[in-house]
Amino acid sequence: MSDKRSSVFSLILAFMLVFAVSPSLSEAQSRYDNSFPVRVGIFYGSISKSTYSVSGSSLEVYDASNKVIETDSDTLTASVCQQIYTSSSAESTFESARISAEKYGVDALVYYDRGSFYAGSRSASSNLAPSGGSKVIFAIEDSPAVAVEGSKDIYVSSDDGVTYLGSSAYRGKLNFYIKGSALHAINEVGMQDYLYGVVPKEMVSSWELEALKAQAIVAKNHVITNYSKHTSDGFNVCSTTHCQVYGGYSAEQPKTNRSVDETEGMIMTYRGAPAEAYFHSSSGGRTEAIGNMWNYSLDYMTGVKDPYSTGTPYDSWEANMTSSEIEQALLSRGYDVGTVVGVKILEVSENDRVMKLGVLGTKGMKILEKDSIRIVLGSSKFRSTYFTLKSTSGSAPVSRSNDIGIRDSGLKNTFDRLDSFVSDRISDVSQDFVSGSSFVFSGRGFGHGIGLSQYGANNMAKEGYGYKEIISHYFSGVTVG
Ligand SMILES: [Zn+2]
Repeated sequence: MSDKRSSVFSLILAFMLVFAVSPSLSEAQSRYDNSFPVRVGIFYGSISKSTYSVSGSSLEVYDASNKVIETDSDTLTASVCQQIYTSSSAESTFESARISAEKYGVDALVYYDRGSFYAGSRSASSNLAPSGGSKVIFAIEDSPAVAVEGSKDIYVSSDDGVTYLGSSAYRGKLNFYIKGSALHAINEVGMQDYLYGVVPKEMVSSWELEALKAQAIVAKNHVITNYSKHTSDGFNVCSTTHCQVYGGYSAEQPKTNRSVDETEGMIMTYRGAPAEAYFHSSSGGRTEAIGNMWNYSLDYMTGVKDPYSTGTPYDSWEANMTSSEIEQALLSRGYDVGTVVGVKILEVSENDRVMKLGVLGTKGMKILEKDSIRIVLGSSKFRSTYFTLKSTSGSAPVSRSNDIGIRDSGLKNTFDRLDSFVSDRISDVSQDFVSGSSFVFSGRGFGHGIGLSQYGANNMAKEGYGYKEIISHYFSGVTVG
């Protein structure tokens, strides 16, 4: 009980520290161990479900104030209340719920009334008691007559520390709560437990240990600096590429767990504050300044020469796009230039990546800027903005390896503001355009090129560099400790 209560308090404390106070370096470093809570959105909003199957060993169900509902069951079903009960009498409310539970075919129910949970087996309606793994409906009262003060959250944990949500296993606890009409399913874990489930999903688990350790720290900084990204949804980070891919306990591997263990509590700081940390699959030989891809700059991500990312499966690529394919790609994003008649690279960064690509059509011209170039043209085919342009079609695109693919972090930076990266051209420079019915783009690397190159990190580790040297190579001037 007390550990649950203290973890709630530490969550509140963490919010206060992260958002209200600028901690000193030593405070920052000591806090980011497994006592630091991370709430990970598993199913929420449009991907939420109305019912969840939960299983584990002697499941314990409790509310946000740690009031425990006695259940020793190894399975249960978490479900949205099917009906609003408005009686002010607990007994008649329960009777209404019982009738409804029978109607919906569930064996028993647990309902929440004025801050308390009641299990069917503890009420007068004992005929609703679950028997041997039967399904339980959580009837959460939400009517004015039984208005609930504070949280309506339900937490579930297993006595062996691993709880299953469907077929996926998670450490920590599961949290279910209603937002709008959706029942959200969240996994609340400590920082180390979170990273156990991230590193094997974001990097190949058999790669060099020092590269995995660098990835563990980068992933940790990424969640720290994006801790409020999903605050409005009721958690910290989601489990997809929008934040970082998280597979929970089911994804864990011994080697990646070791990389997390050996970097416990360590983070990247720049001038005493946690540094933002982005990563991509392969730089192709040179990383890019963050300001040349997105719309803000950071002193420690200005682009570096990266010979460690050459000679990798994503060293080079070629994309052949017909004028019709380019026209359709633009149209799918709402940009109509008519029939595409020409393409031109208008600006290249100091790190040799294309900053502006002009597309000339019969109805006008669009300029794709920075990261919008590959987002609009398709980032699986158009692997980076590190490219040159030929006029006519040549060889077929290079075959795609089955190895690690695109692992960009932070893609949402462009998706959220795509229109700000795409503009109309006023002056006429059409005579300089490369014209034709198809265009061949010849490029290097895979991903946005910001921050750590994963293939580069692995090659550095093979050459004997440690994780701190790997991080210092890709993030200039940061401190790891
Ligand atoms: Zn997210």
